[in-house]
Amino acid sequence: MKRIILLGPQGCGKGTQAKFISEKYEIPHISTGDIFRYNIKNKTELGVEALKYINDGNLVPDDLTNRIVEDRLKQEDCVNGFILDGFPRTIPQADALREMTDIDYVVLIEIPDEDVIFRLEGRRMCSGENCKDLIYNINTSPKPQNEGVCDRCGRGLYQRDDDKVEAIRKRLQEYHEKTSPLIDYYGDKVISIDGTKDIEEVTKDIFDKLD
Ligand SMILES: [Zn+2]
Repeated sequence: MKRIILLGPQGCGKGTQAKFISEKYEIPHISTGDIFRYNIKNKTELGVEALKYINDGNLVPDDLTNRIVEDRLKQEDCVNGFILDGFPRTIPQADALREMTDIDYVVLIEIPDEDVIFRLEGRRMCSGENCKDLIYNINTSPKPQNEGVCDRCGRGLYQRDDDKVEAIRKRLQEYHEKTSPLIDYYGDKVISIDGTKDIEEVTKDIFDKLD
């Protein structure tokens, strides 16, 4: 069984690796964001309930999040395992998860804060209507051909507030505060992966450990 929890800061390449793991072991990538969106879009009982909190500007309570995750883990495609992404975030959620299922591995993609900042702080967006899908990165790639200018439409590029160093540091701090207790909680189930390597090497390291 490959019942996996995936941990790592934003910018560590978690989404990409989740996709590769999912394909290789034929297990679904379950992101809490996605299952919330699915339930809301399909107006399921759980989705309707979640929407009440969201519309009022409140956080969805743990109990409801737990039920949505539990509901997803009961689906047929989880028979060989799953990759959980974005859950659990807290010890009470980890306790709730323990009631639902066993976990085989916790894959922790590690990357120094300064690397995360370097990767995310370089992101630039275009303000053009037809360029919402474009993300440039002046520190990594794709870099715009001309500095500060969109390749597609020639408009000026800008940095989102979320991609400013202060905002990234704040999220990193939250990430560490929430993740450290989980790493202790799962103990020897945790597989540490060096996320600073190239994407292919990170994938290979993960597969080596999981095989
Ligand atoms: Zn543009």
